[in-house]
Amino acid sequence: MSLNLTYIGNPILKKATAPVREFGEALAAHLPRMVEIMREEGGVGLAANQAGLDMRFAIVIANVDDEDRETDEILLMANPEILEFSRDECVIEEGCLSVPGLREDITRPEHIRVRYQDVDGNTMELHTGDFLARVIQHEMDHLNGVLFIERMSLAKRTLLKKKIESIREEYAGR
Ligand SMILES: [Zn+2]
Repeated sequence: MSLNLTYIGNPILKKATAPVREFGEALAAHLPRMVEIMREEGGVGLAANQAGLDMRFAIVIANVDDEDRETDEILLMANPEILEFSRDECVIEEGCLSVPGLREDITRPEHIRVRYQDVDGNTMELHTGDFLARVIQHEMDHLNGVLFIERMSLAKRTLLKKKIESIREEYAGR
């Protein structure tokens, strides 16, 4: 199956993904193409439904906060669950490969504790802040059928309504 980036308007981005049940080779097989899509588009994370897969996993660049990084550490997070959100929130500008051309400030919790399964199905836990925490929250929203534009205030969404509509039209059917 060839995977391609899905865009706003595609129904797969609006529904919660199905839990991953098969690990190992079956799951790892999707990785090369997902990493390729993420890199081609200059992203730092990609949820499976952004590649057209109805599966509850995402990839993120685990060392995204290391500005001097020479190689990307790709982390696959299957069936992720947030165990804890910090009460502190922060504002970070977000963009989304599925909503090209739109970048907006979004407020979210600063730190998270997340439990997930790795490619082999082992249960892992990660406590993180900085930009990585932001990327994970953004990708987890995707897995729940939520786009970052839905995290904007109603006032801002109303203001951007025309722009969002034109992006949707431009990418419809792709
Ligand atoms: Zn996104």
